[in-house]
Amino acid sequence: MPQRETPLPTVLEPRGRTFGEEERAAVLRVLDSAVLCGAFGREARALESEMAALYGRAEAVSSSSGTAALHIALAAAGVGPGDEVVTTPVSDFGTVAPVLAQGARVVFADVRADDGNLDPAAVEAAITPRTRAVVAVHLFGGAADVARLREICDRHGILLVEDCAQAWLGEDEDGRLLGTAGDIACFSLQQYKHITAGDGGLCITDDPELARGMRLFMDKGWDRSEGRIHRTMGLNYRMTELVAAVARAQLARVPEVVRLRRERAARFAAAVERLVPAPGVRLPSRRAGHAWWVMPLLVDDNSRWAHGLQDAGVPALRGYLERPLYANPALSGHHPGPCPRAETLIDRTLLVLQWNEGYTEDDVDRIARTLGEVGAR
Ligand SMILES: *Cc1c(COP(=O)(O)O)cnc(C)c1O
Repeated sequence: MPQRETPLPTVLEPRGRTFGEEERAAVLRVLDSAVLCGAFGREARALESEMAALYGRAEAVSSSSGTAALHIALAAAGVGPGDEVVTTPVSDFGTVAPVLAQGARVVFADVRADDGNLDPAAVEAAITPRTRAVVAVHLFGGAADVARLREICDRHGILLVEDCAQAWLGEDEDGRLLGTAGDIACFSLQQYKHITAGDGGLCITDDPELARGMRLFMDKGWDRSEGRIHRTMGLNYRMTELVAAVARAQLARVPEVVRLRRERAARFAAAVERLVPAPGVRLPSRRAGHAWWVMPLLVDDNSRWAHGLQDAGVPALRGYLERPLYANPALSGHHPGPCPRAETLIDRTLLVLQWNEGYTEDDVDRIARTLGEVGAR
């Protein structure tokens, strides 16, 4: 029954990654310079300037991963033992590992049932006198309600960090760039993200004190302009010159990558809406400004859908995660109470399709058609 056509491109092959001559030249330029460490070359500093310019923020700090970027942000914010950080249970472990690394406590707030992003009311209810920061993830490229979260954080005098690892150039419904409402926003260049240099991270901020703190934590607490003095505790989270040079080429491509993903997503949505009978999936209700890291759908029984689609050659994930973050052994003791909407999404209602700027219009039409076939069973 399942028809075998050309497999859809994935992020683990050239068809599913947008690399070209610029990336190749970048690697050779760094090799030929013989300076591969970010502390001594020009590429990492240039990438930071280009990132700050892309987002219209005063400063950007590069690092070795998205997880490192979040760790640098929380360390610069002064998060430490006894502090609490409120965040979502539906995210990559990289969102919470930095909280643990700082000896602080993760407090999980429940998410909205329709898109898996933090529910601002639940965040507010989770805030205590020990809360130091809220980390808001823009899940799958769709906007968390940062306007309300900003207002809540301001009222409580705590920091708002945006985790934009899945939301390169995403916008909220008013067209505001995701990553410009938080005190700090963090990005990832890992293999699976919109753009990649293998691994890598970036933080952006308008606050010069936070920027200085992040820069120190990224490089052993060492401001190299003043000699060999270690001002603060810091790690070596430096981005290498090879990574930075490739990341610069990728950064120039991210507008086109996001544009293509949006174009394909719009075609997909229109095709799904035309299906008769309707297949029993709900498209994301907030599609304006979405960056489409993946295509999240709502269904009644995500296991059935994921198996049906996979059997037909359409990569689909039941629920994105196997379990909410707090159900991982590494987080025992950090769970203040269940997050029922997160659990329902993961166990039953959330179906995630891989999405890629390398999908052709035919690929998109085939995915929609397959959805209709699985729905008709
Ligand atoms: C990928 C990801 C991270 C971690 O980034 P790495 O570069 O893999 O360390 C953090 N948060 C979210 C939401 C992610 O998707």
